[in-house]
Amino acid sequence: MSRHPRDVEDERSPSGQPAGHSRRDFMVSTATAFAGVGAASLLHLEPASAATATNPVARGSGPYPAEGMAAYSPSGPLKVMKLQRRALGPKDVAIKLLYCGVCHSDIHTIRGDWGKIQYPQIVGHELAGEVVGVGSSASKFAIGARVGVGTMVNSCRTCAECQAGHENYCLNGNTQTYGSKDRDGTITQGGYSTFVVVDEDFVINIPAAMDLADAGPLLCAGVTVYSPLRRWGVSPGKRVAIVGMGGLGHLAVKLATALGAEVTVFTTSPDKIQDARRFGAREVVVNADGADWSKLGHAFDFALDTVPYKHDLNRFIPLLKRDATYCRVGVGKVVDSNEIGQMNLVLYRNALAGSNTGGIQETQDMIDFCALNKIRPEITKISMNGIDDAWKKVLAKQARYRFVIDIGSR
Ligand SMILES: [Zn+2]
Ligand SMILES: [Zn+2]
Repeated sequence: MSRHPRDVEDERSPSGQPAGHSRRDFMVSTATAFAGVGAASLLHLEPASAATATNPVARGSGPYPAEGMAAYSPSGPLKVMKLQRRALGPKDVAIKLLYCGVCHSDIHTIRGDWGKIQYPQIVGHELAGEVVGVGSSASKFAIGARVGVGTMVNSCRTCAECQAGHENYCLNGNTQTYGSKDRDGTITQGGYSTFVVVDEDFVINIPAAMDLADAGPLLCAGVTVYSPLRRWGVSPGKRVAIVGMGGLGHLAVKLATALGAEVTVFTTSPDKIQDARRFGAREVVVNADGADWSKLGHAFDFALDTVPYKHDLNRFIPLLKRDATYCRVGVGKVVDSNEIGQMNLVLYRNALAGSNTGGIQETQDMIDFCALNKIRPEITKISMNGIDDAWKKVLAKQARYRFVIDIGSR
């Protein structure tokens, strides 16, 4: 989960149809201008410096010629798209991308599950690479620094949420790494690409102890589960249910275990039982229709639901202790409501909650926590040409557990 709720709301009318909203109108106009140039024309745009897509000038100011894998329709194969990353602003850094994780959100976005989007669109918000250019007043990162970018590349900085470090809940709508209106008027294009230019305040330092390929999935999936685990006080002695064990869920098991909790995994895939135990789960429950969970009644202090589609929540609420919270971080189609029995929450004063990624400092804290505790995602590296196949495997629940694009590999 990663899109700002405002993005979702803006694109739907109450009937669930795309609304004739100014933001969407804007998206059409700017993205058309973007796409209207055409990949072939963009090929002939000369960069301001002598940089090339594969060998940028380290201290050049850009713009940076780049290429990525873009979706041109909700269903079609991804195709190469040439683009230019903006010239460095004073606080920007240019990053040569080496890896980008594949998040279920990428697929939801391109398929239009979270609202209508404009094509072509490059997705990807689990970026990792090296700094190759630094703006005139940027001071946080040097050339060659190992860095990452998650789901946001900017926010208003002034609202109460931003001031409190919750840029992910910016009241004025943050700028998402892809599919958002950027400050230069274009629609942001994500990390399935060779370069990106980002304000340094939204760039995460990757510790030397962490492999860059491992960093990407932590920047969305990792912080998406870390934030609620911390928010709801997961700690030694707490019994925690992790519902669903895919990209988010497998990291939730590792993180909750590292935080000292006793973890039980609920999965629909019996072949994940051994993995769940390897990741630290004390107990694994196969979520099958009709299974008897009576011995787990009111057993859990907290439940984190990572399932990225509508499913039956009524089976899980009675597993919570009094006052415990059931938190969702996975989101399916926005038009799908996920109803819950009227009595379930009342009986033991339970709460149903949601959580959307994490703030920038929180993301840095999570990365540092993972480096310190040697927590890494289970990844399968793929080439740029292997993304379509990887998406099919994600949808077929065959990812074990995160695909990571090796940007330099074709
Ligand atoms: Zn994501
Ligand atoms: Zn804000």
